[in-house]
Amino acid sequence: MHNIDKVYIDGKFVTPHGTERSPVFNPATEEVIGEVRLADETDARAAVAAANRAFASFSKSSKAERVAILNRLSAAFSDRMGDFQAAMTEEYGAVRGIAQGLLPFAPKMFDEAAALLASYEFTRTQGPSTIVMQPLGVAAVITPWNLSVVFIAQKVASAIAAGATIVVKPSELSALQTQIVAEAVDAADVPPGVINIVTGRGSVVGDTLTSHPDVAKVGFTGSTAVGQQIMRNAADTFKRLTLELGGKGPTILLDDADLATAVPAALTSGFLNNGQTCFAGTRILAPRRKLDEVLAAIESAMPAFQVGDPKDPATGVGPVVSQKQFERVQSYIKLGLEEGAQILTGGEGRPEGMDKGWFVKPTVFTGVTNEMRIAREEIFGPVLVVIPFDDDDEAVRIANDTDYGLQAQVFSSDLERAQRVAHRVEAGTVLINRIFADHEAPFGGIKQSGIGREHYTYGLEAYLEPRAITA
Ligand code: NAD
Repeated sequence: MHNIDKVYIDGKFVTPHGTERSPVFNPATEEVIGEVRLADETDARAAVAAANRAFASFSKSSKAERVAILNRLSAAFSDRMGDFQAAMTEEYGAVRGIAQGLLPFAPKMFDEAAALLASYEFTRTQGPSTIVMQPLGVAAVITPWNLSVVFIAQKVASAIAAGATIVVKPSELSALQTQIVAEAVDAADVPPGVINIVTGRGSVVGDTLTSHPDVAKVGFTGSTAVGQQIMRNAADTFKRLTLELGGKGPTILLDDADLATAVPAALTSGFLNNGQTCFAGTRILAPRRKLDEVLAAIESAMPAFQVGDPKDPATGVGPVVSQKQFERVQSYIKLGLEEGAQILTGGEGRPEGMDKGWFVKPTVFTGVTNEMRIAREEIFGPVLVVIPFDDDDEAVRIANDTDYGLQAQVFSSDLERAQRVAHRVEAGTVLINRIFADHEAPFGGIKQSGIGREHYTYGLEAYLEPRAITA
């Protein structure tokens, strides 16, 4: 049993003032595997006070000092890769491939921030003006449970490079990952107060941070609904915001796409992280005249997405994170049938032979129109829809007919044609014949998928405020 009963404030593991205890579940077995003691408003305020005190000197630290901290963080996170992987599997059912493939981005975020910082000019001359890029102040970093290690590293790396100090509020559902993050931060010998970590409820710690007058910036990854709440809270004190929110990404299979590679890639994108990925391609747009071929290719690719124990290397899709999410995903499968869509593969209930664990059958709907709720709402489970189109114009129209705009994919054997289509698709990232973004390029959403961009220079400047001093 894991007993996580400390928060990390001012460089120390301390017992929180909050007394609520929240169970930690293993979603593959539904068993309680631990308990986390949650921080409350008092702890959140103590963390902000520590970050505020640290800001006075950290904001004036040299580039070399911050590069050294980023290098130590990279090393400390690298040292804990095996532990992170085990925690992700245990607390949210991440399959081995996901953990092994995506976790290395955590230390990489620190490495890239260090490299960028070394060459970044914080003071520039422009005509009669001196432009000074100065750190914003205390940043609240609020993260979801899925791949939280990478999301925390991404934001913390940019904030440290900028000279901002940080209060991290990770999800209540990622307590095991968070504990290891806190231990890695402690091992990296970061000056006290520069990085504080308080796990607590969004409605308690999250609300306190996003309305606290001493918090200058909120870096958030999570749902669109919570992003809206954060904007409201932040309005009174004009906090700067970077919001990475949900998605309903289209994967457009143009009629000259090589289906043998494009269809498995489209399914990998859709089912990634057990269908719980913001940038998943959950709407597969298929040329009507090749629809039968696409559906046959989907059926023949499905054995690669075997549901099972996430610890088994042969498993392609593990459980969803919680009972609540299991029920929500089931309700969407039911809704799809009620809306008149047909099931190509998957369907309601647990996979055959599984009577416990929050396992969902990887499901693909056909007979779907883009007006149906299963085509418009983020389900956040392994449930995909196939929508036919007649020509490239219609594919673009359907792709753009959504409230979201995080990431899209275009598959074609004609690169110029794919480029033309990609340029017309409204999303922060549009990928051609690939499903993973270039993480040195800016990442973020348009429309209700968010505000602002992360990664590299865009990420760094999200924690800086330009000032002009003109003679
Ligand atoms: P969530 O929005 O429920 O929670 C995210 C975080 O916000 C958690 O730490 C939560 O405690 C906190 N929170 C909740 N209420 C809050 C409030 N009132 N004020 C401040 N913080 C509050 O999301 P989740 O279930 O943890 O994650 C899934 C969602 O995240 C999906 O919608 C997914 O698309 C999105 N997501 C987006 C990205 C991206 O990069 N765009 C990446 C991963 C996940």
